[in-house]
Amino acid sequence: MSADVKLVTVLGSTGSIGVSTLDVVARHPQQFQIFALTANSNVKGMARQIREVSPRYAVMRNEAAADQLRQLLKGSSHKTEVLSGETALAQVAEHSDVDYVMAAIVGAAGLLPTLAAVRAGKRILLANKEALVMCGALFMEAVQHSGAELLPIDSEHNAIFQCLPVQHRNGLEPIGVRRIILTASGGPFRDKPFSEFERITPQQACAHPNWSMGQKISVDSATMMNKGLELIEACWLFNCSHEQVDVLVHRQSVIHSMVEYLDGSVLAQMGNPDMRIPIAYGLSWPRRIDSGVSSLNLAEIAQLDFEPLDNNKFPCLSLAANAIAAGGTTPVALNAANEIAVAAFLEERLTFTGIYQLVDAVLQQYQQQTTSSVELVMAEDQRVRELANTLLKTQFARAF
Ligand code: NAD
Ligand code: MG
Repeated sequence: MSADVKLVTVLGSTGSIGVSTLDVVARHPQQFQIFALTANSNVKGMARQIREVSPRYAVMRNEAAADQLRQLLKGSSHKTEVLSGETALAQVAEHSDVDYVMAAIVGAAGLLPTLAAVRAGKRILLANKEALVMCGALFMEAVQHSGAELLPIDSEHNAIFQCLPVQHRNGLEPIGVRRIILTASGGPFRDKPFSEFERITPQQACAHPNWSMGQKISVDSATMMNKGLELIEACWLFNCSHEQVDVLVHRQSVIHSMVEYLDGSVLAQMGNPDMRIPIAYGLSWPRRIDSGVSSLNLAEIAQLDFEPLDNNKFPCLSLAANAIAAGGTTPVALNAANEIAVAAFLEERLTFTGIYQLVDAVLQQYQQQTTSSVELVMAEDQRVRELANTLLKTQFARAF
């Protein structure tokens, strides 16, 4: 193997971002090879990926899934070692042979392996925004300390990263930035009257007009909690206050975000809505490689629209802004309550509007702590999940 080939671990390889990552990697076999793949329970998807890319390791979330995978792979010629559990997840993220780690597990479950990669000084391609929302200060400190390269994959943050000078970690003032403009498609319900929100089904919420994504982020995009999590993500990545970040609805999802400088110049990054663009940029930075995405045809798109977000219809963004303003472990509570609420909505145990109401109810009761350690963050995450589940059963039980 040539010394120039970068070895990549993909955390969450069977998901939407994971599959797009393998697509981009496969286009550049001289530059990237897969070291390890990881997944929760999708044994068949993992077996297929192993046959395609022959990683050194595959990690499943538990031993039962790992056993099923070993059975499926019996008789095939691959040399992949199948492991399971949290320790193995961290090991394939921090392994000394690994160069790049794609952090694409959804939710709080991605925090510890992503942090392991950060502490080991890897290049981190960060899709798992929940990790940064929960643990921003400790996460960014660990990046500084280890010298890890943190490349945002969330399309908005990748766009902002592309519009900023390379040295931007000391905040927006030294580089002459007035504000960041985070664009939002508005999700599937931007034109639906609020009076109909109560009856929204999981299937409707998961049908995003512009992007094809995992279920959790699709629901977050429908409630606009996704934009709230992204607001917090931007504050940590670009070392700024939430007041320096504006949200703008742009329904075509062609402009992925913008940066306004002091002189009034506004830089935007555009492209077709396909996550392979930010993924390719994360892999190749500071150079460029082909991502497989077709050229942007502006003549065909013809029109770009912009409008303010209706905060009354989508109150989750304000919840997130208040949570980052409150600081400490409040964003941990926001994220944990939201994960419980979204899961309950997907299982039809909570209404669509109940998602905001449950997260709000949890935050009203929540006593925040100082984010002194990752262990404390994980303990708070657990405590809030229990509180949210209790409220769900006692105050939000849905009759069908
Ligand atoms: P997804 O649901 O499609 O995939 C999630 C992956 O994580 C799967 O491989 C799954 O097996 C694994 N996983 C889930 N729970 C796990 C657990 N408890 N332990 C170990 N592995 C687990 O999600 P996605 O849409 O690919 O999103 C992944 C992350 O990227 C999310 O944080 C999301 O917010 C972020 N993101 C996604 C997109 C997108 O276009 N899909 C865009 C921006 C950011
Ligand atoms: Mg995004």
